[in-house]
Amino acid sequence: MAHNVTLIPGDGIGPEVALAARRVVDASGAEINWHVAEAGESQMAEFGTPLPQKVLDSVRADGVALKGPITTPVGVGFRSVNVALRKEFDLYANVRPARSFKGVESRYENVDIVVVRENTEDLYAGIEHMIGTDAAESIKLITRTGSERIARYAFDYAVKNGRKKVTCVHKANIMKCSDGLFLEVCRGVAAGYPQIEFEERIVDALCMQLVQHPETFDVLVLPNLYGDIVSDLCAGLVGGLGLAPSANIGRSAAIFEAVHGSAPRHAGLNDANPTALILSACMMLRHLGEGAAADRIESAVLALLAGGRDVTRDLGGSLGTSQFADAVIDKMRE
Ligand code: NAD
Repeated sequence: MAHNVTLIPGDGIGPEVALAARRVVDASGAEINWHVAEAGESQMAEFGTPLPQKVLDSVRADGVALKGPITTPVGVGFRSVNVALRKEFDLYANVRPARSFKGVESRYENVDIVVVRENTEDLYAGIEHMIGTDAAESIKLITRTGSERIARYAFDYAVKNGRKKVTCVHKANIMKCSDGLFLEVCRGVAAGYPQIEFEERIVDALCMQLVQHPETFDVLVLPNLYGDIVSDLCAGLVGGLGLAPSANIGRSAAIFEAVHGSAPRHAGLNDANPTALILSACMMLRHLGEGAAADRIESAVLALLAGGRDVTRDLGGSLGTSQFADAVIDKMRE
């Protein structure tokens, strides 16, 4: 059965890694009708917004999107297209696996962590304003409903994927109301899953323990901002942003994208590593019920990484973005 998928190439290195991922998916045996929808600064002149209505319509109709990174201006200019998409489709669960890859040089060989980040609330809700000219206020919004659905998602994920433990990450010692609510809800949800071990960590202590003993962690569930920061930390534990995939899951839509951004300095150079988006595409294929195609792609990618030779420059190889995609496709055909 063919699946309809919206492809948002994005900007910076986005179009290059998106093309690489699309070619790999097309060679995997899964049948995809791609609907290409452009978003980002390039759309401002024509549509007056970086996120034109036709992009939203396409994602709504298809229910699934594969997305390249999109640049967000710092401090001024339009708000993040990425955050707007998560909000528009209520993509409340951001799932970011970080695991060690054989052949990829990193500090650890035994990391296998899944970050489950709440994706719609917290300081990311963007409720902020200036107070006069010399002060600014950002409001940290945490709700019982938002906390409960992400905690459930984390425990259900653990059950479905044979995971043993969920760690709730918070700073409830200081933010007794907001993080206190998140923690209280996580404790309540944990009680309904006696087969899954539950533990709690204060976010600063967690960061230290992740750097010292990452192998002791399994599934982490966090409010939005801590999830954002900790997932990049976890990507760093296993070889960098070029390898970190993610899924943004809602009830009626799901958007799959790499953890990394648009890396503008690398744009147009054909030297970005497309692995993160290719592995995000594997998460998408599993979501679509195309597990065999996802397995084929993943085995080919893992074999190339393990070989250590046919890889991109960030991993010490010499392949460009498109050549790495060629290598994955060749490997699948072996
Ligand atoms: P970034 O992830 O774009 O890049 C940081 C550095 O990581 C790069 O300079 C590069 O050295 C390396 N890197 C990242 N991806 C790589 C890849 N695929 N292959 C090889 N090396 C890679 O982070 P940034 O520079 O902080 O952000 C750039 C822009 O991207 C900003 O505008 C930011 O807002 C945006 N952003 C978008 C998303 C998204 O679209 N979901 C996510 C994060 C950042």
